[in-house]
Amino acid sequence: MSTDKQSQVKTRKFKAEVNQLLDIVVNSLYTDNEIFVRELISNASDALEKMRHTSLIEKKVFEKDVPNEIRIETDEENNTFTITDTGIGMNLEEASKNLGTIAHSGSVEFLKKIAQDAQVDTGLIGQFGVGFYSAFMVAEKVIVKSRSWRENDEGVIWSSIGTGSYNLQEEAGFKRGTSIEVKLKEDDKKFSNADTIKELIRTYSNFVDFPIFVNGEQVNTVQAIWTKSKSEVSDEEYSGFYNFISPGIGDPIYRLHFTSDVPLAIKALLFISGENMESFGLGRMEPGVSLYCKKVMIDQKMTDLLPEYFRFIKGVVDSEDLPLNISRETMQDSALIAKLKRVLTKRLIKMFDEEASFDPEKYVDFFRKFGMFIKEGVYSDFENRNDLAKLLRFESSSSEADKMISLDEYIGRMQEDQKAIYYLSGPNREGIEAGPYLETFKAGGIEVLYMLDGIDDLVMTALREYKDKKLVSADQAELDLPEEAAKKLEIEDSLPEKDSGDLARWIKEVLGDKVNEVRVSKRLSESPAVLVNPDDSFTTGMQRVMQASSKSDLSLGKMILEINPGHKILKHLNNMRIEETNKDFAEEAANLLFDNTMISAGLLIDPKMLVERSTKILEKALESANK
Ligand code: ADP
Ligand code: MG
Repeated sequence: MSTDKQSQVKTRKFKAEVNQLLDIVVNSLYTDNEIFVRELISNASDALEKMRHTSLIEKKVFEKDVPNEIRIETDEENNTFTITDTGIGMNLEEASKNLGTIAHSGSVEFLKKIAQDAQVDTGLIGQFGVGFYSAFMVAEKVIVKSRSWRENDEGVIWSSIGTGSYNLQEEAGFKRGTSIEVKLKEDDKKFSNADTIKELIRTYSNFVDFPIFVNGEQVNTVQAIWTKSKSEVSDEEYSGFYNFISPGIGDPIYRLHFTSDVPLAIKALLFISGENMESFGLGRMEPGVSLYCKKVMIDQKMTDLLPEYFRFIKGVVDSEDLPLNISRETMQDSALIAKLKRVLTKRLIKMFDEEASFDPEKYVDFFRKFGMFIKEGVYSDFENRNDLAKLLRFESSSSEADKMISLDEYIGRMQEDQKAIYYLSGPNREGIEAGPYLETFKAGGIEVLYMLDGIDDLVMTALREYKDKKLVSADQAELDLPEEAAKKLEIEDSLPEKDSGDLARWIKEVLGDKVNEVRVSKRLSESPAVLVNPDDSFTTGMQRVMQASSKSDLSLGKMILEINPGHKILKHLNNMRIEETNKDFAEEAANLLFDNTMISAGLLIDPKMLVERSTKILEKALESANK
């Protein structure tokens, strides 16, 4: 049978994305090629972790009693580096899938970026599920021999020179696990030197939880540092461990190492990365916390151990209360996991809150990078919404550009009879400050929070209130400002009340269905007019999002146009209305006034109509200037 199998030497083509990837790996990445050692060790360690867990839940395991370990042999004479593990191994199907395709979408895109931009760190390669292929940075040829843990599987041999295709066939006689022989390029001879490899292991792989031997000598010290107490772990060990689980991302911003006994026995060591990988355009991050039970890894990227919005957190959670032989499937809906998740979530939120009081500036730096996740939490996690809201930071009208404040700080300096927290959304600070909405707040000295992120409006609408203070968008029609503050905005030299009212009615007639109502404003001093929203279920920010995502114009017809009867434009319009001179022109002007308020609100209008209108009006203006 095996001779039969051996005759089926099959050359298979790599998937297109693997070829692209290999091309980049081989031709563009020269620096840091030593990381291939770390990547192959990390794969061996993964395979051993899976084996440790598999042997707890499966009765029949091939070569059940072989020890879990990693052995590296270096051979300077033949210029090779060989790494062998006793992990779960691969059968034919698994080898062709795992070593012929790329699991993570976006990996190739990211590597292209790396190749073009020297700023991006090649050390990140392992983050993108392309670790195995990094061997081709140094290899002339790679030969993989593997035998899976399943008793009935056949062994396999895989080989490739890294261009276009690979050979794969079944072969009998292998021990359980995987052995990878790297035939090194002449230029990369140093990796067949044992001392070089030992040094690399001490730098990158010291926290692997299995013994690593180099030419028969054990190099690492096996230790599960999360099970130690804080006083027993040095800062170097912490950052070494972080670099081991999250290679290439630099130092963590925060870490949380804690033990609890009630309601569950937990030992956890969690880190907040220095970089938000999603901001590199690489798509959604996968969960980064592994679940252990008494030092045995149960799941490496455990979904549902933390809420989705904490997917940027990396680390280890070990709980003795889990049954050791729990399988991934039963874990998904286990009440224990739900309990664990609750405890961890609350503990993390508390940690952020403490860090924010301890060093506010550092926290703002964190928030700039990771605020999107906190916002996602406020939006989606009803149970922890208020505690998460405490962690939000925003720019505001009373703080300098680039400074950010919390909702608590805002409340701390609210005016005495101010009932609500006011916010306003816009694409940037300048845009908000140039618009008409702030006028009344500025006059009354009332602080307004700036929502500069597309999702901020949705977050505020979901939150609704904070510490019994309503959150109100400053573009609402009914503002209910403190009396003193409202009084400060007195318009001098305004049109008489009757005229203002008649003018408002006339403009409504001209605009027709475009607005729900036209009325005299109490909030403007400098701008001629402003569009406001009738109720708080609908803010201009939300309308912008809707306009951008669908063609339909939901905003139209629902909003209220407020006019400033003290403004020259309105006074002129009023005269023209009364004297009925130049009727068409007056109507064009009223329409243009409306268009301008749409633009101020950040909403889209038909550019063709706008240009036609401005042209007509410009013509008139020049005509009269020439007289
Ligand atoms: P990742 O480790 O992020 O999944 P890699 O490119 O490093 O990506 O490895 C691809 C896949 O190849 C692994 O997910 C695993 O299934 C398989 N693999 C690699 N090395 C080994 C090994 N030593 N033992 C078993 N499977 C392995
Ligand atoms: Mg890997």
